[in-house]
Amino acid sequence: MDEALAAHPAGNWEDLVLYLGGSPGSFTGMLLTLAAKADPRNLALLRGAFPRQVTAWEAWVRHSPATWGELDAILAGESGGGPGSGVSGHDHQLGYLAPDPGGRQINGQLLGELAGACLDGCQPCQEALLSRLTGDAATTARLVELACIATSHVLGGIPASMTRQRAPGLASPEFRRLAAAGADGNNDAMFALCAQMTPAQRREAAETAAEILTGHLVAGGAPPGALP
Ligand SMILES: [Zn+2]
Repeated sequence: MDEALAAHPAGNWEDLVLYLGGSPGSFTGMLLTLAAKADPRNLALLRGAFPRQVTAWEAWVRHSPATWGELDAILAGESGGGPGSGVSGHDHQLGYLAPDPGGRQINGQLLGELAGACLDGCQPCQEALLSRLTGDAATTARLVELACIATSHVLGGIPASMTRQRAPGLASPEFRRLAAAGADGNNDAMFALCAQMTPAQRREAAETAAEILTGHLVAGGAPPGALP
């Protein structure tokens, strides 16, 4: 975290959700809404499942106004260990992501770990796994493809907010470029475009794809064949 940001007072609730890697409507946002309403017993249950988010929430309430740097330090003390390939000792692997029907060189283990880390709400692992993913264009493209398949299954199509640059919505421009390229089943074009992107662009696309896919996994809107 850069120094100016570290010294900055932790802002409002939405800022805390963004700091934790979510958006107000995301799973992290819902989790903090739950934490805010929970009695001590339910809060303890939530803390067991999502230690990082609930610890951040409690620190934010207790120390307010803390700075982002102080929150960083509190969370570092809580979780121990920095990111490597995922955070050591964590096992988030999901075994049920379907293999790529196109027979491409997809790192299914990396995808399964990332999806699991998102579902578990483990931000350090998500960061580490997304960084690994940026060097792997085909696996990034597959993640975008899965996000589109899941959305199409739930909504019966891909909304403009995921493919058109000017439509309002949270999807990153890079995700929209890929989703637009792959529209109408033109998945090879999408994989080719992803291979031409810089790692930073792939990262932007992957973050949106991971968030969308996680939302569908949490909501249970799983497309047959791709997800359980
Ligand atoms: Zn983890």
